[in-house]
Amino acid sequence: MFETEDLLVREYFRKIIGEDGLDIMKNVPEGEISETEIVKLNDTKPSSIRKVLYKLYESRNAEYRTERDDNSGWITYWWSFNSDNVKKMMDKEADDELHELRKKLEYEKIGEFYHCHCHCVLFEVAAEQDFWCEDCESHFEHFDNGGLIKELEEQIEEREKARRRN
Ligand SMILES: [Zn+2]
Repeated sequence: MFETEDLLVREYFRKIIGEDGLDIMKNVPEGEISETEIVKLNDTKPSSIRKVLYKLYESRNAEYRTERDDNSGWITYWWSFNSDNVKKMMDKEADDELHELRKKLEYEKIGEFYHCHCHCVLFEVAAEQDFWCEDCESHFEHFDNGGLIKELEEQIEEREKARRRN
């Protein structure tokens, strides 16, 4: 599932495990596989591989079970990768992002912003300081966030469209 042609899926995994992680995982076949096997497939430090596996586990794209050898006491980690989950997790991520964007848009729409050379603050804050910033010794001037609002609205619309396509 890591060798997918689907760019969105690749991008999704790249965000979680990075390009290095994708390089490690592309050699790993589907189905259950022991951590030792995964290490053998790669020319990478076992600790780096474990980090990648754990990130996949945290993002709920991988699961593991352990098996303890009664004689040696060694523990084997058996990993499996859940490709059914990928779509679900991608949708959830898209929803979270959309939610954040909507919140941000609301904030920008409600607030009236002022900026100096070093800050961008809400009207109340600027008024409290008599529209004078002590840090950069300049006036707070009204900041027109119309462009930003438009940009946010476009991003939201784009994502909503993409979401409906799925
Ligand atoms: Zn300032």
